[in-house]
Amino acid sequence: MNRPTFRSPWQKRGFVALIGLLRLMMRPFGGAEDWFIERLVAANNRRVMDPLAGNTPQKVLLIMPRCVKKTGCRVDVQNSVSECLTCMGCPLGDVATLCQKHGLQALVAFRSHIAFDMARREQPDVIVASACHDRMIKALRSMPEYPALLAPLAGMDRMCVNATLDLAWLGRQLAAMAPVSKQAAAAQAAVGR
Ligand code: SF4
Repeated sequence: MNRPTFRSPWQKRGFVALIGLLRLMMRPFGGAEDWFIERLVAANNRRVMDPLAGNTPQKVLLIMPRCVKKTGCRVDVQNSVSECLTCMGCPLGDVATLCQKHGLQALVAFRSHIAFDMARREQPDVIVASACHDRMIKALRSMPEYPALLAPLAGMDRMCVNATLDLAWLGRQLAAMAPVSKQAAAAQAAVGR
């Protein structure tokens, strides 16, 4: 697909400054800031999904935090998650399976500056990212010109260790963007037999 120009309020400095101020004001009130960020992310995701309707993206850049990868795994998954398909040792195995099912190329970037470089180089049709609340805002601020679907992490063993993803959410996004054709589903079923 030819990616249409993506318009977002995050491209405006005044909006970014206002959001920063509102977050500061909410910070003393328990989970108010996280709640606010989740509302901003939901609005962003709606903006991203609308132009994608009927336009199947060919290239998806997945941005996952490094702590999703199993502690101790030495496989370089940045250019290919093919080894994850047979390993299935952490949530990246499920991500690889989902992308294969939907015929999408998965590029994985763990660090934000690598993700930004990758996005500029690869020009993905859409970015799908999972991150902690603060990092989701950083993504919206840093790459406002790219359509990026975002979701908070589902949990982690302890701070920045063995994080888990909302795989049901990811599956729904990929299914909405790249429905599996009946022929592809039949072919996959035949391989799985
Ligand atoms: S699925 Fe396996 S190979 Fe892939 S990142 Fe996780 S542990 Fe490493």
